Amino acid sequence: MNCDELLKRLTDYAEHATDADLCAAIERHLQDCPGCEAIRADLERLSRFCRECDPPRLPDDARESIQKLLRG
Ligand SMILES: [Zn+2]
Repeated sequence: MNCDELLKRLTDYAEHATDADLCAAIERHLQDCPGCEAIRADLERLSRFCRECDPPRLPDDARESIQKLLRG
């Protein structure tokens, strides 16, 4: 696996969507390649950050108008 290939797979890897063989290949590459490892670490922070974000919240007035609409 080279760096280009790895970068294409990294987003899948960060989401844990890759199969076990591919994961192993990615991990082997990351151990030998500080550049790709740094990118992986950034991606991981990013995806963790996204998971920790609160879901978007509607402002109160918007929610009230929607509830009025729903009640008819
Ligand atoms: Zn690399």
